[in-house]
Amino acid sequence: MRKIGRMEKIKILVVEDEAPIQELLQFNLERKKYHVKVVDSGEEAIPLAAEFKPDLILLDIMLPGADGLEVCKRLKADPKTAPIPIIMLTALCEEADIVTGLELGADDYVTKPFSPRVLLARVKAALRRISATKPVTSNDDLIQAHNISIDVVRHKVDVDGKDVVLTFTEFKVLQLLSQQPGRVFTRYQIVDAVHGEDYPVTDRSVDVQIVGLRKKLGDAGKFIETVRGIGYRFKEEE
Ligand code: CA
Repeated sequence: MRKIGRMEKIKILVVEDEAPIQELLQFNLERKKYHVKVVDSGEEAIPLAAEFKPDLILLDIMLPGADGLEVCKRLKADPKTAPIPIIMLTALCEEADIVTGLELGADDYVTKPFSPRVLLARVKAALRRISATKPVTSNDDLIQAHNISIDVVRHKVDVDGKDVVLTFTEFKVLQLLSQQPGRVFTRYQIVDAVHGEDYPVTDRSVDVQIVGLRKKLGDAGKFIETVRGIGYRFKEEE
């Protein structure tokens, strides 16, 4: 990921076919001093992403021609554009598409209609995650988030200084989520990260792990948030 100099603007590519939403996005992003380019279709977005080298892409799912999921897949398949984080713009009813998009490598999603405030917060969070590879850690071996300390090397967790005994799988789930606060993981992504791709999985098995994990974390269990219909995320610190 390129280093962003003080005077250099952060570049955002917006892929959206509806003019009012294009304008809303452009206005609000430019107000925050981002350098914005807007295109109407995936066919325009793919070559432009390689050339413009945006720091972030806002990608509508419902597009004429190649839809947002197809565009996401193609961007993630090209080593030049694969590292660029993608935030999908979706309708609330497109839960299955959101899950697919996240599994194709999109970082996040915002549902329409969205408030500019929410959109800008998600943009900032995504940019923060790429600029700091491990946002909450001071070093890679210790994750400190809210009142939870996670010792990655020794597989030890404490909440407010009190040891919490987790199973191997619960620990791996907590580690995955807490390394990228605010990022939503689908159930499949969680199981994949914990067991490798061959592990036979049901949605239910992940839910059971989360229930156990929350219970053991006690009050701190609330930092593992359920994202209805999509999966789970670790709450970002304010
Ligand atoms: Ca659209």
